[in-house]
Amino acid sequence: MTKRQTWFTEYQTDSLSLGLRIEQILKAEETAFQDLLVAETETYGRLLALDGAVQTTDKDEFVYHEMITHVPLFMLDAPRKVAVIGGGDGGAIREILKHQTVQEAHLVEIDQAVVEAAREFFPAISSALSDPRAYVHYVDGIEWVKSARDFDVIVVDSTDPVGPAKGLFQAEFYQSIAKALSPQGILVAQSESPFLHQSLIRQMKAGMQTAFSDVRLYLAAIPTYPSGFWSFLMASKTPPSVSRRLNEDAIETRYWTPAIQHACFVLPKFVEDIVR
Ligand code: SAM
Repeated sequence: MTKRQTWFTEYQTDSLSLGLRIEQILKAEETAFQDLLVAETETYGRLLALDGAVQTTDKDEFVYHEMITHVPLFMLDAPRKVAVIGGGDGGAIREILKHQTVQEAHLVEIDQAVVEAAREFFPAISSALSDPRAYVHYVDGIEWVKSARDFDVIVVDSTDPVGPAKGLFQAEFYQSIAKALSPQGILVAQSESPFLHQSLIRQMKAGMQTAFSDVRLYLAAIPTYPSGFWSFLMASKTPPSVSRRLNEDAIETRYWTPAIQHACFVLPKFVEDIVR
């Protein structure tokens, strides 16, 4: 372990970066798929970065993991079978397993080294991976989804659209997901920043519309992601309506609330214009 005072810099675009002062580098590894870094930061606690991009930090991970899971799950009365594509830190699985109706939560992660680092350095995020209802598959999500069936929710918790994650942003992948979902099933995917990635959001929405009739965007504030203002696209074959469970099932959260379930779909004008 190296003890030093230095900065982690994520170059988010050609002209924008995020700097976090780090207290200690805990792990720096070139995995079979990407550069992995675990470091202790002064402001956001422990950081996981892949190929120089922040994936998660101890202090703000709850926003992303709660919002990518509870919003789709609370659209269904009894979600039973759920999958996460990517998501190797385990945070999405932790939130999914808070729903008592869930019988199987599958994590489909291409890079085993990410899960191993999460188990070692982020126990509070990854602990649910040891739950008997959690199943971990180390395969490419693009291939895995082709033979998956009867899922109630599929969450695409991916890295940015480069390298192995590129195909996770394509129409063909969304078409395979549509076949893998039950008739009422829901796809949700992180769709980056409305400030910085408008054309990607439009492209993802158009791709989802080739397989789903209802596609909608929702928002959350995530300080360590580019611009701090993040979006998610949710797609289904019939328009979803919020479940009766919303006010009945008490789920312990720090960002998501029953009111946010509705409010997150209210879009500022410039964001509405992106997905119009
Ligand atoms: N919350 C994060 C974000 O928005 O930056 C994503 C976190 S999660 C660690 C992303 C994971 O997606 C990575 O561990 C990466 O290995 C995985 N991944 C990328 N492409 C994949 C693919 N084709 N199949 C399965 N997992 C993939």
